[in-house]
This record gives sequence, C-alpha cells and structure tokens, in this order.
Amino acid sequence: MSLDLSKNAKNLLENRYLRRNEKREIIETPKELFQRVAKNIAEAEEDQEKQNYYEEEFYKLMTESKFLPNSPTLMNAGTELQQLAACFVLPVPDSMEGIFNAVKNAALIHKSGGGTGFAFSRLRPQNDVVKSTGGISSGPLSFMKVFNSATNTVKQGGKRRGANMGMLRVDHPDILNFINAKGELNEENQELYDQFETSLEETYLKPEIIDEELSNYKEKLLDKQFSNFNLSVAVTDEFMEAVQEGCNYKVVNPRNGQVVGELDAKKIFKLIVNYAWKNGEPGIIFIDEINRKNPVPNLGEIEATNPCGEQPLLPNEACNLGSINLSQFVKNQKVDWNALKDTVRLAVRFLDNVIDMNKYPLSEIEEQVMKARKIGLGVMGFHEMLIRLGISYNSEDAVEMAKKVMEFIKENAHQYSQELAEEKGAFPAWEESVYEKPQRNATLTTIAPTGSISFLAGTSGGIEPFFSFSYTHTDGEGNVSTFEYDFTEEADTDILVTTMDIEPEWHIRIQAAFQKYVDNAVSKTINLPYVASKEDVGEAYVLAHELGCKGLTVYRDGSRGSQVLETNKED
Ligand code: UDP
Repeated sequence: MSLDLSKNAKNLLENRYLRRNEKREIIETPKELFQRVAKNIAEAEEDQEKQNYYEEEFYKLMTESKFLPNSPTLMNAGTELQQLAACFVLPVPDSMEGIFNAVKNAALIHKSGGGTGFAFSRLRPQNDVVKSTGGISSGPLSFMKVFNSATNTVKQGGKRRGANMGMLRVDHPDILNFINAKGELNEENQELYDQFETSLEETYLKPEIIDEELSNYKEKLLDKQFSNFNLSVAVTDEFMEAVQEGCNYKVVNPRNGQVVGELDAKKIFKLIVNYAWKNGEPGIIFIDEINRKNPVPNLGEIEATNPCGEQPLLPNEACNLGSINLSQFVKNQKVDWNALKDTVRLAVRFLDNVIDMNKYPLSEIEEQVMKARKIGLGVMGFHEMLIRLGISYNSEDAVEMAKKVMEFIKENAHQYSQELAEEKGAFPAWEESVYEKPQRNATLTTIAPTGSISFLAGTSGGIEPFFSFSYTHTDGEGNVSTFEYDFTEEADTDILVTTMDIEPEWHIRIQAAFQKYVDNAVSKTINLPYVASKEDVGEAYVLAHELGCKGLTVYRDGSRGSQVLETNKED
C-alpha cells in the first residue's frame, strides 16, 4: 500500500473529507477513509467472498493513486449520509408548485454534496399571462434569483458550496435578459449603484477617484449576481446555421409553443460572445448534438447538464463520476496499456456498485437513475502523462494520444459493462436503447474537471494543461495552498508548455479529440490570452460546433477580478 499523500493533499483531506464527530473532531485517518470507501462500495457484491475480494481491489485502486471516485463518494460512502453522486439535473416545470419543489429538492441535494443543473426553458416568459391570478408572470430570471438565494443559505453539508447550472434555450423569449444576467446590473443593483453615485457626487473627491470607486462598486455588485450559478445558453443547430447565414431565427413561448417573434441570430451570437469575452459567461451547450448522442432517446429529451457541463442528464437523473490518473500509466516513456485496461475494468465495476450503494435524496431520482444506470468514468493527469511521454500538449501527437487513450478507455469500459450485464443484468431501458448487445450502463464515460480529486492525486486536473508548474490555489472557502511540480526536472524543456502558451485552437482540438470517445461530455476551459479579441471567441464557438463538441467554456486571462489559480510571482 503506497498512501503517498502530499502535504497539500493531507490538508485537503483533513479540511473536507475525513469524518468528524459531533464536536467536529477528526475521527479517521486517510488510510481509514479509503478503507471505509472500499468496504462500502464492495458491499454491493452478492456474496461475502466477492465483497472481500473487491474491498481489497478497490482499496488498492485508490491508494495506488490509479483512480479516485468523485468527492461525494469519498466523503459519504459508509457514513449515515451515503449520498455518493456529484451530478444531478432537476426539472423546473412551469408552475408555482413545480418551481418551488425544485428549489426544495436542490437544497436537499446541495446538503448532500451534489451539484444541480436546471433548464429554465419551460418557464413562460416575463409579462406572459397567468390564468389563475389574472396577473403577469415574472419570468425565468426572477425565479433563478430564488434558487440562487436558497443556495447561499445551504452550504453543502459544510464541505462543498452549492453549485448550480442554469440553462435557457436560445429560442426562449427572455434570452436577452439571460445573456445579460451576469454582465449587466439588475434593477435592484442598479438602484444601489445610482444611490452610491449620488452620495459620491456630494463629496469633494476628484472625478477620477469617483470613477474608480464606481467601477469597483459595479464589479462588486455584478460578482454577487447569480454567484451560485454557472449560466449556459442552449444553442440549437438552427441557430448556428442562422448565425452563419446572417438571418433571423424564431422565438417561441414555451407555454403554448407559439412563435412570438424573431431575433437576429448574428446579433444574439455577438452578445453571447461579448459577455463571454468580458467575464467568461455565459457558456454555450450544443443541445441538438447532445440529444443526437442520447443513447436512450425513449426515456426523454435532455435539456440540461450538471454545474460544470460534463454530464448531460434527463430531468431527475443523477450520475456518479470517477477518474483514472493517467500519469500513473507511463513506464519508460510508454503507455502501460495492460495496466490501464485492468484499471478501467475495475473502475467500471466500482462506479456501477456506487449506483446500488447510493442513498438518493429523492425517490423520483432513484427511479430515474435505475432505468439507465449511467456512470461517468474519465481521466485526470492527461497533461502529466503527455510530459512523461515526451509529448507537447499543443501538438498533433497530443491530439492523437488523446484519441488513442480515450478510445481505449471507452472500448474497454463498454466491453466490461457488457460482461457485467451477463453477470448482474442489463440496465432496464436497454431494449429501447441504441445498443445492440446488452450492457449494464447506458453511458460509461465523462471527463470531469476533477478540481478536488486531482489535487488529492497530485496531478493535472482532468484533461487540462498545467496552469503553471508552481502555483497557489485558493479553494471556495479561501484556503490557500502552494504547489510545486518537480517531475519536470527530467523532462525536455521544449515540451513544458502551460495553459497560456497554448493556442485556443489546440485547447479545442484536445477537447474534441476526447469528446469523440466520451459518451457524456467533456469539462474543459478554452483559455485565451488577455489580448484575445471578441472575434477569437466567436471563432472558438464555431470551431467547437464544427468539431462535434457538446459545449464550450472560454476564459480570457485576467478578465475576472479573482481567479482560482494564480501563478506564483517568482515564475
Ligand atoms: N461539484 C459541486 N460542487 C463543487 C464542486 C463540484 O457540486 O464545489 C459537482 C459538479 O456537478 C461538478 C462535479 O461535482 O460538475 C464534478 O466536479 P469535480 O470533478 O471538480 O469534483 P471532485 O470530485 O474533484 O471534487
């Protein structure tokens, strides 16, 4: 057993993962944490002999740093909470009861450590009729505020902050307000801003100081708007074509399906691009591509993803994730394919067991999850793997390696899921699915950000390049830790590129290469230099759509006040 944890990883485990008693004292060691998780997940096996066998195997899998499940599994497996999934999507129906039910359900999920995604596209637009009261509706944006405040109130079990994804279809009548939601002051904040301006004007401050104060205040107010949400516009193929052709597209009231007007596609696209350029939001998802690749179309249409975008799900569906640490599979500058294959198979069994061991926060969710038994096996440490192989991240070789490694993982994962179907049964909705042979899980692969677990494993996150080989990380709670990667001493300096050395096109091509062999979606940020233009952002979206990505998030360096990762000054 090689529980080789860095000081940072130990700190993180102590702060957020290790069990505590009522007095908040830590009552387990890191070793005991992995024993607890391994034992609990092995309990899904049918007899004692198998339970013992897999408990040992799962323990080795995690402590040898080959694979880690998502944080809720590490935190909650074998505890009273027993909520193991990171990703949920909840329906938001167009009724008061439905909306507030979703607020309540989201609170329950956040408390258990999960993140929630919502499509607000079914809500009637602002100023539309409300029959029961004879009044007018307040629209998706005003209801989103309620979700946002509820999230503020419920800190995720004290260990994770509530994360939400809010989506709106590009053909919803309130799309303009949605695109502006984080970039322009809302009514209340505009009032506060105006009051502040008046009070400043009554002082004897120099005009340039007043301007600076006002601009800081505006930033502060904007930071608080929908601060618990990631926002993404769900764009359609029809919309992307209208952008290319420079024509209008139809806007539809979801209450009655009536076309209520047209919008200029290019103008809307430009608006999205402008805000994304300014502060990284809204992101976009390609909703038609997501539904084209839906393996069980009979179960319904996908409208939303989880908070970081990697997991499209049906309303009331949940999914648990886990990631293989690719940096562990390089031996003498070559990929150890046999070892990788063994790990894929064991990881699939682990994640499939998680479905059965999970205590779902709502019965509707349990019912929906059991129909398709989706899991999301992904990777972390891809960039570290490339460096160990002597490959530069921004190269054709890296794109080829991305395809090769993910194709291998996908094929072996599906193969093992078929074997599991023989042993334990296929997912109940299999007959109506796109699969010819029975398999245990409707989806097998997802690329998660691995924000916390890659930190525990001490490697690069998901498929992202290293931000720097020496940096300071501040988590959501303000805990600061410093990182130094020393493996670079042996590496050829030509290939030691970091995020900002890499052209946006390479970021997108790596994302697309992984997406080709991922059943769900890929979490990836397309980093642009501070000097990037709005046109660069627009081109990135078009390229991502052409290459078959399911969504895109861009981030222009320095465009937000506070950044999660900051390069150490001495670099
Ligand atoms: N997530 C969340 N709150 C957080 C971080 C993550 O709800 O503070 C959820 C969210 O759905 C996200 C998913 O967990 O998309 C996976 O995130 P990540 O891979 O970073 O999680 P980890 O397992 O590393 O903690």
